[in-house]
Amino acid sequence: STASARAISTTAPSMSNAAASATPFSPPKPGTVSGFVGAVGNTPLIRINSLSEKTGAEIYGKAEFMQPGGSVKDRAALWVVKDAEEKGLISPGGTVVEGTAGNTGIGLAHVCRSKGYKCVIYMPNTQSQEKIDLLRMLGAEVYPVPAVAFDNPQNYNHQARRHAESLENAVWTNQFDNTANRQAHIDSTGPEIWAQTNGGQFDGFIAATGTGGTLAGTTRFLKEKSEGRIQCWLADPPGSVLHQYIQQQKLERTGTGSITEGIGQGRLTENLKPEVQDGLIDDSLHVPDADSIRTVYEMLHEEGLYIGASSALNVFAAGEMGKKLGKGKKIVTIICDGAYRYQNRLFSRKWLQEKGLLEAVPKHLEKYIVL
Ligand code: PMP
Repeated sequence: STASARAISTTAPSMSNAAASATPFSPPKPGTVSGFVGAVGNTPLIRINSLSEKTGAEIYGKAEFMQPGGSVKDRAALWVVKDAEEKGLISPGGTVVEGTAGNTGIGLAHVCRSKGYKCVIYMPNTQSQEKIDLLRMLGAEVYPVPAVAFDNPQNYNHQARRHAESLENAVWTNQFDNTANRQAHIDSTGPEIWAQTNGGQFDGFIAATGTGGTLAGTTRFLKEKSEGRIQCWLADPPGSVLHQYIQQQKLERTGTGSITEGIGQGRLTENLKPEVQDGLIDDSLHVPDADSIRTVYEMLHEEGLYIGASSALNVFAAGEMGKKLGKGKKIVTIICDGAYRYQNRLFSRKWLQEKGLLEAVPKHLEKYIVL
């Protein structure tokens, strides 16, 4: 239930600051939480009216842009830190180290500040200055390192692991293969969606994947609770190997990239593997960047929702899933974060032109291209 998700996020045993675990009012009042970690989770489920009308299905988006750190990754960040605490891998004053180019690092930096840990982030040096600045403003120590492949020992993930190994009382949270990540969604995202749909009164769930935590954890919960009734699909951007894997069990890189940041994957991570291997992911859809970009602008214009490109991909895919499952079917997806972290790209004429995506923006929505 949502109550248990809230209980998990407010009663972490090893808070460095006793006040941080205090209940603000007793008995707890709805909507009143303790500290940053108490505010993680319990996001609204928004009916996307325009897309529901257009597709004849009912489309809902879980508003993860309303998380206290701004994205769906606040859940994973909190869960991997709690897991390290529970396993005794880290204690007050310790250091959390992660390799991440974006939202996980931001979530971790928030969680670490609120719990009194140091936070060290390794990222590829191709990332925007805004992200580096934000992480530093949140108190993280940031190391931009050359963007080299995973099999190179200088890859940011390996550097993060070695940094943690070199310190006392430090943990590499390893978001890709640490299954505390998907557990966040088994414990919180899944149960919240279940409660928000009157006990699973919906037909399909669809989401794109980066580490796999959101899709796999939510799918695991929904499949078990609905005894397999709810369809769970993957949505995949260009350049990711997962769509082809779900369709043909082949893991082959296609070469093209995508403008959608934070999603797409070249392998089956430990977070995703169990659900894929157990056949819980029923189907998948490939979503071209033009559809994701158009949806960014449509959601803004028609719904007043300012969402990032991975969220737009999810929303578009939910509409397509709705059309495939049929009239009146209810589909749930994830609105992973807001457009704020990407606005210098998504709303820039020059950038859209460079990416060959200017034509993807409908003529009547070009007025939103203000940069
Ligand atoms: N969208 C955005 C913007 C993200 O940062 C991420 C995390 N990489 C995702 C989607 C995918 O989430 P997950 O890692 O749980 O698969």
